[in-house]
Amino acid sequence: MTQAPDMIIVGAGLSGLLTAWRCLDVNPDLQIEIIEASDRIAGDHTWSFNLTDVAEHLQGWIKPFIAYRWDSYDVKFPKRKRTLDIPYCTGNSDTLRACVQLHIDSGRLRLRLNTAVESLHSDYVVLESGEKLEARGVLDARGFEPNDDVFLGYQKFVGHVIKTKEPHGLERPIIMDATVEQLGGYRFVYCLPYSETEVLVEDTYYTDGPELRSQEVDARIKDYIRDNLNVSEYEVVRREKGVLPITLGVQDRYDAAPALGIRGGFYHAVTGYSFPEALKNADWIAYKIDLFGEDWDHETSDHTLQVNRTQHRQDERFLRLLNRMLFRAAKPEERYSVLQRFYGLNQGLIERFYAGQLKWYDKARILIGKPPVPVHKALYNLSEKAFIRRERAKRDSK
Ligand SMILES: Cc1cc2nc3c(=O)[nH]c(=O)nc-3n(C[C@H](O)[C@H](O)[C@H](O)COP(=O)(O)OP(=O)(O)OC[C@H]3O[C@@H](n4cnc5c(N)ncnc54)[C@H](O)[C@@H]3O)c2cc1C
Repeated sequence: MTQAPDMIIVGAGLSGLLTAWRCLDVNPDLQIEIIEASDRIAGDHTWSFNLTDVAEHLQGWIKPFIAYRWDSYDVKFPKRKRTLDIPYCTGNSDTLRACVQLHIDSGRLRLRLNTAVESLHSDYVVLESGEKLEARGVLDARGFEPNDDVFLGYQKFVGHVIKTKEPHGLERPIIMDATVEQLGGYRFVYCLPYSETEVLVEDTYYTDGPELRSQEVDARIKDYIRDNLNVSEYEVVRREKGVLPITLGVQDRYDAAPALGIRGGFYHAVTGYSFPEALKNADWIAYKIDLFGEDWDHETSDHTLQVNRTQHRQDERFLRLLNRMLFRAAKPEERYSVLQRFYGLNQGLIERFYAGQLKWYDKARILIGKPPVPVHKALYNLSEKAFIRRERAKRDSK
């Protein structure tokens, strides 16, 4: 019989693998078992982030994860075009798998694939097969699941990676091209030029409901490529799609099991991106284990995650307010103007916004000035508590 691991992580996605990688790098005697429902770790994804989202002491460590890096990127709106000198990076499933391979080879990271976990507890899990597996600590990294205490809008997208015959002419990423038709919500196109002849083109839109009509979006991507990129012939070599939660309001109650990643609510309220928070948690947990050494047990990581979750939710209160302005106060066809105004602000503020580190004066700067939304609607959506009361009443009456 194999020895029980120190830690079990359920879910071999972004947060589960970053945490395993960091914990094993920092703690040479640690043993982790990761349990994954699908047939491989890390899935088939790309994950992008501003390098300024990453704490300085982790920028060297995260390098092997980075598959592409650009020194700047563009944003485009009907009345604003700007290049931001913020380094932008993309990692993917291959680079993430490579980051943990050393630990798999050494036997300190054990994988159990094609295995779904039925229930999680602080120091054991029960598999769908009924088998019980024990460890000193269990972390839940199973990805997103809606719950009754969160009120959401959605960011939905479809992306095509295309290989072109001729150079496509894009020098740097376009993080938001909102000059496209808005189609009744906030919509933009996102382009990442991986090489002179390979580019990801992603059509993204924000709406109230989670349904994604991917065929319509496929057609819009084709139109965008035809009208905006300098290419006549290309083939689609990869497709991705996603529906990300955008938090409008959240009840101040923390009764869920401690969890990592999207499962634990660790994502950016406005963008739905989770890489920066996953990295922070991975580092925190790794050093807690290091600090407690042999005395480390599930309470250490449970406590760390609960404290971080409370802090994260408090820090994101302002971002949820911005989301309510975007989804509930701005007229659908004018929602882009909220972002158009935001991208006119100084670069340091924009970096802090994405890194989840806005200062009080940044928040004041974002709010001061002529709001791009009707004042009465802005005031109506100001209070999160009142918003939740109204949304709950709506839900209950259905
Ligand atoms: C297409 C797409 C693109 C995205 N792009 C970005 C981006 O560029 N930057 C960014 O920061 N964020 C991005 N996100 C958002 C977010 O960061 C990702 O969704 C991220 O992968 C979430 O990480 P996670 O670890 O919480 O969950 P996941 O990466 O989804 O991992 C969850 C894992 O748990 C497994 N699992 C689920 N249930 C069980 C079970 N019962 N038993 C065992 N295993 C189970 C799943 O199979 C999966 O492997 C993107 C999301 C999508 C969908």
